[in-house]
Amino acid sequence: MSTRQRIVQVAVPAPLRKTFDYLLPENTGSGVQPGLRVRVPFGRRELVGVVMGQTDRSDIDASRLKRISSVIDPQPVLPEMLMRLLQWISSYYHHPVGEVMQTALPVLLRRGHAAAAVGEEKWALTDAGKELDLSTLTRAPLQKRMIETLRARDSALGSHDLAEISKGWRNAIRQLEEKGWVASRYEDCLTAPDTSLLAAPEMTPAQATAVASVSKDIESFAAYLLYGITGSGKTEVYFQLVQQVLAAGRQALVLVPEIGLTPQLVDRFRQRFAVPIAVLHSGLSDNERLCAWVSARDGRAGIVLGTRSAVFSPFANLGLIIVDEEHDGSFKQQDGLRYHARDVAVMRASREDVPIILGSATPALETLRLAKEGKYSLLELPERAQSASLPEVKLLDMQHLKNNDGLSRPLVQAIRERIEKKEQSLLFLNRRGFSPVMMCYDCGWIAPCQRCDARMTLHKRSGRLRCHHCGAERPMPQTCPECESENIHPIGEGTERVEQALEALFPEARIMRIDRDTTRRKGELEEKLERVRQGEVDILVGTQMLAKGHDFPNITLVGILNADQGIYGSDFRAPEIMLQRIIQVSGRAGRADRHGEVLIQTWHPGHPVFKALKTHDYNSFAEQELQQRKAANYPPYCHFALMRAEATAAGEALHFLQRAQTVGRAMAPEGVELLSAVASPMERRAGRYRAQLLVQSNERKPLHGFLDRWLDTIEQEKQSKRVRWSLDVDPMDMY
Ligand code: ADP
Ligand code: ZN
Ligand code: ZN
Repeated sequence: MSTRQRIVQVAVPAPLRKTFDYLLPENTGSGVQPGLRVRVPFGRRELVGVVMGQTDRSDIDASRLKRISSVIDPQPVLPEMLMRLLQWISSYYHHPVGEVMQTALPVLLRRGHAAAAVGEEKWALTDAGKELDLSTLTRAPLQKRMIETLRARDSALGSHDLAEISKGWRNAIRQLEEKGWVASRYEDCLTAPDTSLLAAPEMTPAQATAVASVSKDIESFAAYLLYGITGSGKTEVYFQLVQQVLAAGRQALVLVPEIGLTPQLVDRFRQRFAVPIAVLHSGLSDNERLCAWVSARDGRAGIVLGTRSAVFSPFANLGLIIVDEEHDGSFKQQDGLRYHARDVAVMRASREDVPIILGSATPALETLRLAKEGKYSLLELPERAQSASLPEVKLLDMQHLKNNDGLSRPLVQAIRERIEKKEQSLLFLNRRGFSPVMMCYDCGWIAPCQRCDARMTLHKRSGRLRCHHCGAERPMPQTCPECESENIHPIGEGTERVEQALEALFPEARIMRIDRDTTRRKGELEEKLERVRQGEVDILVGTQMLAKGHDFPNITLVGILNADQGIYGSDFRAPEIMLQRIIQVSGRAGRADRHGEVLIQTWHPGHPVFKALKTHDYNSFAEQELQQRKAANYPPYCHFALMRAEATAAGEALHFLQRAQTVGRAMAPEGVELLSAVASPMERRAGRYRAQLLVQSNERKPLHGFLDRWLDTIEQEKQSKRVRWSLDVDPMDMY
């Protein structure tokens, strides 16, 4: 036997920050390339891993090394560039490389499925099925329901849609197939181009300047901040650049926030480009996802349009990256690999040597700082593209106004005027449910969650109390559980209460509520938004689901009900996020040629956030806020890493972090500072006690070096196995 056995380093989906060594499989000539998937024995299981590299030596004795069971792919599934990006992600976020690979791969590839697209199996009614007399199916109610659904939707349905009807859909559909009423086919995952394409409008001078700045050097890396007010036509700038990239035979990656990826946006792309578009979002079936992934890798998809994880798509020939609404919080993943898709996208663009455009009306302060320092080039669109002017903003000082169910009289009056003029109103309230508190007026009891340090929200229509933090629920009590008084009342308002109040005030009006409670079914949000656009709604009430780039041409009034929520929040980013949200929601008003008005209810009309809103001046607010962050040494001037821990026993998580703090302080280099471990602001959540420890540094390099050494040490601690802990680099929320 040869003593110089080649050893393969494999990224295995295990929560350990290292690769694992294996011997080459029998009869493998020269070796295995990085990026190939392999099956390897791991403990008592067999796992699918990705080859990272080969070496001649291992810390483990060669006689104890196990052998790769089989090589899955003929070609690497991950291009070399992407492999290196993923390695960088693993080291930047200090996350196990095997888990990073898992996050980047579609589910079917994680399971060892061939890296080829089969498309999505979909079922549609045959002619016989369309004409069938349903009364013949009374003894097969599930089959009957499936036919009814297929008729109502009038399109082929995939496993996703059918599973919503019943868990037993597979059996029922097979029986329908046997009877010849339903037939299946494999559908391509790419949206086909429209036959009649829309011509590009003539660009405004600002758009033309922005496009020209990027196109003069479109073949190499540069990062741009496209800072354009709502309605300024940022999308048209994207389109022009995508057009150039496609013309050069290359592909474009467009990242959008979770709620921003609506059929409306997909349609806008389809109407402009004669190339197949791969759309990637969380609602895809495993087959659809793999199909989109493969078509991007093979270059068949000219455009990949997707949410956060689309940043990991492989490309045959990537030429441009766009991140729309770059400030949006949904780009940051909040569990597992806590990456920020915008930041990863910038790193990717630089490695692939292609331009990246970050677009927003309200850029993140992190991004603004980089633009100010010249690291990103600034492209500005200061005016609306069409004649519509910006809406007029008025503050309603709630200290001097009576309000019923959260609605002040001037706001009610303004809604009434819109109804008379047959225009639409949008009311924004960042809280769902009927009321956030249920209280006994006799003894002061407040409905608590048993598993969290939080109150339960009343959902009156369903007659239940629900915890918005852990999902616990119970029936709404009729009497106080403490003193048996019947004098218990809901306090404060959520969207449900406002909806009910509006129904009483405007019995003739058509009122629609949009929040997570009213949009649970897949496609329900899109249906509702479409009804608003069709003019079937007079008053729209909703949460921040309404804040994204939906276009509602007939909305002329926007009411912000509780603008103060957030400005005095515990998180230093609260004012930034609140202002971004209000500006985005306000941007819905007066987008066509109608004049818009924004009414903001506040108890603190003197707060600088509102001054900025009145004058549409995000810039000077941002300037001020940046100065404060600098003075307080907060991000973006200082870099944070937050270690979180949780455990079922009280005090255990905190104790673990105190130990981590002691260990860390002893090894931290100058400039890297560990604050004290503390209980989280909401210490108990879903029955677990939580704590956190903040590490900060003005320089990234010493911070990351420290984090590596620190985690290595902590992982050796016995206690680290008993508590659940994680590290969040560049955390977006601090609790
Ligand atoms: P943003 O994304 O910046 O909020 P949009 O791209 O949605 O703005 O554009 C707002 C509206 O202006 C859209 O209806 C769009 O079709 C229109 N628009 C954009 N650019 C032009 C242009 N150059 N000429 C005419 N209309 C335009
Ligand atoms: Zn009571
Ligand atoms: Zn709870």
